[in-house]
Amino acid sequence: MIHKVQKKKKDKGNKKNFIMPIYGSRDLEDPIPKYSMPEGSIDPRHAYALVKDELMLDGNSRLNLATFVTTWMEDEARQLMTETFDKNMIDKDEYPQTAELEERCVHILSELFNGPDENDTCGCSTTGSSEAAMLCGMALKWKWRDRMKAKGKPTDKPNMVISSSVQVCWEKFCRYWEVEPRLVPVSEGHYSMKTKDVLEACDENTIGVVAILGTTHTGEFEPVKEYNDALDKFNAETGYEIPLHVDAASGGFIAPFLTPDLEWDFRLKWVKSINVSGHKYGLVYPGVGWAIWRDSEELPEDLVFRVNYLGGEMPTFALNFSRPGNQIIAQYYNFIRLGKEGYTRILQSCMDTAEFLKEELEETGVFQSLIKQLHMPLITFRIRRDVDADFDVFRISEMLRHRGWLVPAYTMPENCEDDKVLRIVVKEGMSMDMAHLFMEDMRRILEYLQTDDHSAKKSNKNTLKQC
Ligand SMILES: *Cc1c(COP(=O)(O)O)cnc(C)c1O
Repeated sequence: MIHKVQKKKKDKGNKKNFIMPIYGSRDLEDPIPKYSMPEGSIDPRHAYALVKDELMLDGNSRLNLATFVTTWMEDEARQLMTETFDKNMIDKDEYPQTAELEERCVHILSELFNGPDENDTCGCSTTGSSEAAMLCGMALKWKWRDRMKAKGKPTDKPNMVISSSVQVCWEKFCRYWEVEPRLVPVSEGHYSMKTKDVLEACDENTIGVVAILGTTHTGEFEPVKEYNDALDKFNAETGYEIPLHVDAASGGFIAPFLTPDLEWDFRLKWVKSINVSGHKYGLVYPGVGWAIWRDSEELPEDLVFRVNYLGGEMPTFALNFSRPGNQIIAQYYNFIRLGKEGYTRILQSCMDTAEFLKEELEETGVFQSLIKQLHMPLITFRIRRDVDADFDVFRISEMLRHRGWLVPAYTMPENCEDDKVLRIVVKEGMSMDMAHLFMEDMRRILEYLQTDDHSAKKSNKNTLKQC
């Protein structure tokens, strides 16, 4: 958010612009300005209390079913992260062991994604999939430009073929790096790109096609193999070399464990790079992500900077310089702590909970899942068209919030705007017990909303109170 608070800052007479310490009767007396730096200092205890109290108004992250991002880690992981908050990832010469752990993580991921050559793995950590998308997108653009230059062709009109259900980071990439986004529309009941539409959007200026493993809107895995095979033929016919990038922000930590036979990764010839969020199903607190290339051939040398002012000569490819090192340490912790067995167990249990919720929601007779078969622990559901409801998903979202559940309601992308949906992302911290409690609340809400006679609100006090 870009805050514009100038007006408030000037208005020093307005009490609203000060924090009035509630502890005034004890030992905090003076109001503290909100929008300018206070003249004096206060005791750390008081500062802690003031900030902590204000944050009580935030939602409870454990009940945040909107986010894909980790909201629970075990105590040992928290402890390790706390102990390593002071490590700056960029100081690779000073913290060679942290750098080593990052490298091991890249190798582990490259292997998990079936990289073709274990002696030539290539990748880096990022602050999340968004930064990884910028880096992988740049590599695609640079490679395309080199190909065009070699053919003596103009390089001023690059485009990228993406789904209209794409996460905003790709629209950002296109705008920031001046690439025309070719949005392939999705349609109701079919929320991934059709292969034929992908090919139609491609031409000589296409720097790459982005396939999504776990779309933001419905959690579907796009058919990467189908795109790959079609592109293989298309490239052979046209002489183009249009590559695929897989946005596996969520799916990159799901498919290798739950559907290992699904070919979506470097087993496919045209998949040149993959991004994945360590802080989603990699099970680390925000923010860590990963960009992994098929091999070093796919990452143009002139994108990599080498600096020597920290001692040693370190190659870096990142948008930021300084960045916390502890999230990478936590990622490595998860890898050795959980192993494939642990990740599989946790993800299977998330899937079971998601399937349970899907069934229960459909059993209410009010809701319908947008897709029949879940690909990841995410349920997007709408109010059935044949239910004559005088409430909408936005109202349900609001009422769930009264009980602390954070469930977003939104409209689907262009072409499917009539679909107004609710979405639940099941993460490790959402136990089956919590899912039962959620359904109890959901049923109470439906009962309340479906009571025609609003005076019933009064005669049915229990229902009302518990909503
Ligand atoms: C979450 C997500 C992103 C953005 O990832 P961050 O790690 O939050 O930056 C990109 N693409 C998809 C498909 C996502 O689900």
